[in-house]
Amino acid sequence: MDLYEYQGKQFFARFGIPVSAGDVATTVDEAVAVAERVGYPVVVKAQVQVGGRGKAGGIKLANSTEEVRTHAGNILGMDIKGHIVHVVWVEVASDIAEEYYASFTLDRSAKKHLGMLSAQGGVEIETVAEENPDAIAKIWVDPVDGLTDASARAWVAAAKLNPAATEGTVEILKKLYRAYTEGDADLAEINPLILKPTGEVHALDAKVSLDANSLYRHADYEAYDATQVRDQRETEAHEKGLQYVGLEGSVGVIANGAGLAMSTVDIINQVGGKPANFLDIGGGSNAAVMAGALEVINNDPNVRSIFINIFGGITKGEEVANGIVQALASVNIDSPIVIRLDGTNADEGRAILAGHLSEKLQMAPNMLSAARRAVELAGGTPK
Ligand code: GDP
Ligand code: MN
Repeated sequence: MDLYEYQGKQFFARFGIPVSAGDVATTVDEAVAVAERVGYPVVVKAQVQVGGRGKAGGIKLANSTEEVRTHAGNILGMDIKGHIVHVVWVEVASDIAEEYYASFTLDRSAKKHLGMLSAQGGVEIETVAEENPDAIAKIWVDPVDGLTDASARAWVAAAKLNPAATEGTVEILKKLYRAYTEGDADLAEINPLILKPTGEVHALDAKVSLDANSLYRHADYEAYDATQVRDQRETEAHEKGLQYVGLEGSVGVIANGAGLAMSTVDIINQVGGKPANFLDIGGGSNAAVMAGALEVINNDPNVRSIFINIFGGITKGEEVANGIVQALASVNIDSPIVIRLDGTNADEGRAILAGHLSEKLQMAPNMLSAARRAVELAGGTPK
């Protein structure tokens, strides 16, 4: 769950990370009201979940009411890389001596948290990583030990920041680590982290992605969830508690488990088709979940065929088969369905499905042939 900058800054502020005073506005008048309240000069910033807003004209300095009017008027409604600006964040402008970069994210292969710090901030970290990898100081933090004061200091020293920024940066990194871990974030990034001429260190931007699976632990994350931009299919799936990602193709995908769903997307591409979505129904496979999944896919006008790919593990084949049969009795599906059923009690499951097969409900002996059949039914020529 990606946060907007203003939400990220509010999130940071709760952990004591210094950010500029500001507020959101959805109209020019509101933007002016915020500016008058926090005091000039201010910066008017487009709230869209895409980087490079500054270059696109979505970040402007304003010294007066008139300038706030002009800039907020231009930025609200602006299209930045396909994202329409509905909200601006207006904050007190900062004087900048230097711009740094700081972030925490998870390094899955190292099974540790990866912290990155660079004296070259304000530009995308991918660019720094490519052109000047030595300019990024990395630290791998064992989640059991946490980020100690000593390791934070050594890390800051390795990044060769201006010595004036050392203390402030150490403090912010410790807070950023707390925000990242206690806040259940997948990413907490400050770019730029600035050193002011007065010597203070301060977060000027915020990019935060929260783990959506941690929502139950944070009652206040509902507010973030409510502002997520989802397309209509995604909203519907989300309401049904399904893990769904809309794609552009014509083969609808239902699989049990995210790994299998990804493999299904891959194999459809491999045989020359295009998946319409990624839908993981999870470990359970009861009729209600299956019916919900089929409904979501059925409502996608691009879908020409549906590939149900099930590998029974704890869930048994006959339960899955019964779930599919019952689901099909309750929802009317327009597109033909191809089922691949393997794993625990697959034979029992296939026997149940055998009594229900038709042009609209087909079964394939394995994943590859099922993928080919689904692509063919979608009007393609499988490889
Ligand atoms: P992004 O381009 O979408 O990542 O937006 P940022 O919030 O990171 O801002 C981009 C750049 O605008 C920063 O790197 C700064 O150089 C500049 N900027 C943003 N806010 C201020 C400010 O308060 N004062 C000054 N002088 N520059 C700012
Ligand atoms: Mn930025």
